[in-house]
Amino acid sequence: MKKGYIDSVYCGSGVDGRGLRCVVFFSGCNLRCPFCHNPETLYKRGEEWTAEALYARLRRYKPYFKRGGVTLSGGEPFLQKEFLLDLAARLREEGIHVVAETNGQIADEEILRALDGVIADVKNQGSDDLSAYRVFLDACEKAGCPCTLTNVLVPGKNDTKEKLQGLAALCGDRGIKFLPFRKLCEEKYKELGIPFAYGQFREGEEEDIRRAYSVIDPYKKGDLAE
Ligand code: SF4
Repeated sequence: MKKGYIDSVYCGSGVDGRGLRCVVFFSGCNLRCPFCHNPETLYKRGEEWTAEALYARLRRYKPYFKRGGVTLSGGEPFLQKEFLLDLAARLREEGIHVVAETNGQIADEEILRALDGVIADVKNQGSDDLSAYRVFLDACEKAGCPCTLTNVLVPGKNDTKEKLQGLAALCGDRGIKFLPFRKLCEEKYKELGIPFAYGQFREGEEEDIRRAYSVIDPYKKGDLAE
């Protein structure tokens, strides 16, 4: 049985998918986004778990989920494929709704088929090449896995008209949920002794989000209902 490396588990989130959720933060990521909110998941190995043991822990919260469930996050959960498949299968068999938060770089249909939905964050802060996300969205469609797109809007970095139009082209008819850039993670960087490269940018405000929707299309507002 393949073991998983987990940084932490947080129960009580209302922002990581529909309803009230337990969020499992997987350790390790294939990217190194300079604005990463969870740098501790990138540089620490995490605690070793079997899918069976983690499932037993999560199942205890089932009465509290109601319309919610479990969100596999990180880090990049798709990197620990066997463990994810094992854990998701156990949870879904118990009737628990399972979604994953991903960077959308690993278009694995087998994983997507094992989930009730996926939330893919488009990282367009540095590069304008969004081709990997097109491949990912195609894989979601083939696997029948509902995908919600999100994007961390960093004022002065990726809220230009050109960047937003690039996103609109990627979205097509689907919605996107903009998330305001936050700097709450600065303390974590200090603890890890790593400079926080996005310290120079200001945090996002409601007005920034409104402006972004007015540029791409006010009807493209996504929600995390899958
Ligand atoms: S993909 Fe997510 S977890 Fe990985 S470095 Fe980027 S923001 Fe952090």
